[in-house]
Amino acid sequence: MDEVEVYYADVLLPLHLPGTYTYRVPREMRDEVAVGVRVVVQFGQKRMYSALVRRLHTEAPKWRAKYILGVLDEQPLVTERQMLFWEWMASYYMCYPGDVMAVALPAGMKLASESAVSIHPDFDGDLSRLSNYELQVVNLLTDHPVMRVDDISRALGIQKIMPLMRTMMEREVVVMDEELRERFVPRKSTYVRLADDYATEEAQRRLFDELEAKKRTKQVELMMRFMTMSGFGKELVPKRELPQGSSLQTLIKNGVLLTEERVESRLAHVDDDSIVPASSIVLNEEQQAAYDTIAHEKYRETSLLYGVTSSGKTEVYIKLIDEQVRAGRQVLFLLPEIALTAQIINRLRRHFGDRVGVYHSRFSASQRVEVWRRTALKEGSGRYQVLLGARSALFLPFNDLGLVIVDEEHDASYKQQDPAPRYHGRDAAIYLARLWGARTVLGSATPSIESYHNALAGKYALATITQRYGGFRLPQVDVVDMKQAQRQGEVHGHFSDTLLNAIRDALAARQQVILFQNRRGFSLRLECDDCHHIPQCVHCDVSLVYHKATNSLRCHYCGYSIPVPSECPACHSTHIRMAGIGTERVEEDLQIMFPEARVARMDLDSTLQKNQYIELLNDFAERRIDILVGTQMVTKGLDFEHVSVVGIVNADNLINYPNFRSYERAYQQMTQVSGRAGRHGDAGRVIIQTYNPGHQLLQKVEDNDYEGLYHDQDNERRVFRYPPYYRLVEITLKHRDSEVLNAAADWLALQLRGAFGQRVMGPEYPLVSRIRALYLKIVTVRFERSEAIADAKRLMMQMADDLTKQEGWARVAVHFDVDPC
Ligand code: ADP
Ligand code: ZN
Ligand code: ZN
Repeated sequence: MDEVEVYYADVLLPLHLPGTYTYRVPREMRDEVAVGVRVVVQFGQKRMYSALVRRLHTEAPKWRAKYILGVLDEQPLVTERQMLFWEWMASYYMCYPGDVMAVALPAGMKLASESAVSIHPDFDGDLSRLSNYELQVVNLLTDHPVMRVDDISRALGIQKIMPLMRTMMEREVVVMDEELRERFVPRKSTYVRLADDYATEEAQRRLFDELEAKKRTKQVELMMRFMTMSGFGKELVPKRELPQGSSLQTLIKNGVLLTEERVESRLAHVDDDSIVPASSIVLNEEQQAAYDTIAHEKYRETSLLYGVTSSGKTEVYIKLIDEQVRAGRQVLFLLPEIALTAQIINRLRRHFGDRVGVYHSRFSASQRVEVWRRTALKEGSGRYQVLLGARSALFLPFNDLGLVIVDEEHDASYKQQDPAPRYHGRDAAIYLARLWGARTVLGSATPSIESYHNALAGKYALATITQRYGGFRLPQVDVVDMKQAQRQGEVHGHFSDTLLNAIRDALAARQQVILFQNRRGFSLRLECDDCHHIPQCVHCDVSLVYHKATNSLRCHYCGYSIPVPSECPACHSTHIRMAGIGTERVEEDLQIMFPEARVARMDLDSTLQKNQYIELLNDFAERRIDILVGTQMVTKGLDFEHVSVVGIVNADNLINYPNFRSYERAYQQMTQVSGRAGRHGDAGRVIIQTYNPGHQLLQKVEDNDYEGLYHDQDNERRVFRYPPYYRLVEITLKHRDSEVLNAAADWLALQLRGAFGQRVMGPEYPLVSRIRALYLKIVTVRFERSEAIADAKRLMMQMADDLTKQEGWARVAVHFDVDPC
């Protein structure tokens, strides 16, 4: 009979655990527990988590199931399709669905008993709208600014704390976890404006006369200040920028100044009237042909848009997006780096206004929750239809996805490195689109060998744009032979006269310069002239890098750092010198050679703080910077009007990186950074410095010969058994003790050879064989493209599991990287 039937729910936890766990559904929660809803469960000793219901059934498990403790959502938070996507990702990239859930859900949606809670920075202190329990939580947090969910539960004696926390988070009374670590940018702030009564000059004069007559000198001073800051009452002034105190209060009380709450740092509202319809864009002949290929290709799901830099790929995307938006569907627009979203966002909002949402990891947890909600909306003015973001935007809860755009599809930043899931944003995007029956467009001026291969093989439609928009020429590329220049005395520091002259000319013509140097820091390393000792990291197998700002030697893998020694630590010689060159050094040398120029640097060190990269890019766009020096961060998709010279300081260390993709990568980076020059008129110039000017790759960059590069690389990949002809699975083993590690790696390789024979290579030490005090070893397995490898993947995961069950090997970490980059 119905009544005696017992219901169970299989739930997914955001943890590194295989599969789902079964809990019993209490009778009174039966109507609320549904697939895709979050429930509170106890897991392990005392911990509580919010878990996601995957399946409901009546099959009793073999052991006694614990009860679900609470239900957090009235509507499913995660759709069936999203869960299918997670499961595909877990099986393809060889990890657990829980690993995927952990990255897919924004932090604000993963409550756990050990989550840290504090009062929301924007909480207005209005206690009247709080319930009794909420009031108690606020009081508690006033005394102890950061508390764990657990402790709050204990202090208040409330068992069912999670649902309370959820509502308090949603109402922005409290925040969780991550936000505390980020420098929090307040969302709302108070602005002050002049009351309408004082709009005229006449009225203003009367006001000042009156205040002076009453000898209110403080108020007069403040009003003077306000008038200058507000452009004589025309603009709003942030309240915090005015002197705080009684004068301000009085002016507000007397109705001279009015206050207004404004959302800050968020996207400003775009009125529908000010939207520029995409129909006003007129595509040129090549762009139109590309659009037609992509839009009308009936039998293919995926297209590759191969268009040279500044050919107007973005305009083609906008046309494609418009078609979807008008049909009421959603579009996902992926970029490899969040630094690029800053520029593209404005272009999209011009045409699609408030329908555009941005999602990425630098947003605070509550911002991400909001984007998530607005993506899930099926209608209404708050609904997001165009979602722009880095790869994590793939996990948003779309409800009608019609198109996925992967811009700069060749970019290695699309690949997640650590932790699992180690997925490729582009490849996952293609799968996601397929789940929706949506179209995918991959765009690049320098397609990956894989994508171009697929396009030539007919798997993707190929749309090509060969000319820059407006008939502008691609920049002139010159390769400078540094050896010869040195012989002729034409090298100063790290710069050839050719590059220096080009910079000088650009500055004289009030143009801007970008210099690309792919190493950060000041100088690569410190080297002893006598014994050739180079200081190494104590935790990692790498040499330390000099950082001038802190006058220290630092490890780029683990952060270990020491003061610069005054003598060689090995032989005590004082003949130590800097060898190599990094971004910091380039920046400083340039400043000495061009004292009147404004030089800035953009790399990982200079953009650690939130929004710093946006400020740098803005300063450059608005010409407050003349020369921008940077790592690969400067090579990507940026569109600046006044850049006429691009310099590649040292091409050789780009080319010589030991990886099967090094030529492809080097070609892409050099061509991309070159593409920043001369985008709007005046012919651009690119200068590449090298000690190896005859190198065939440089020749190809000079000739803009992508087809030549592709031909060589494709051939090489086939002969040497690499992608796209083969699929690689890289297995990394880590352990503190190198002997334990070696034994475990040999054992695993033996098992793998038993199953896969010649496909197995290694074990071998990677380039950096010790990181953070753990030794590393790698075994690689390569499968032919035509082989179905789902079973092979399961078997490999089983072997890794067996390995950790062997005596003494429980702590050997094993992870998989499918399609390593
Ligand atoms: P890509 O994305 O290929 O690098 P962009 O879309 O940024 O190229 O185009 C380069 C510049 O040319 C941009 O400033 C863009 O606004 C302009 N542009 C390209 N195509 C058109 C067009 N059809 N109409 C007007 N402007 C265009
Ligand atoms: Zn020495
Ligand atoms: Zn280190």
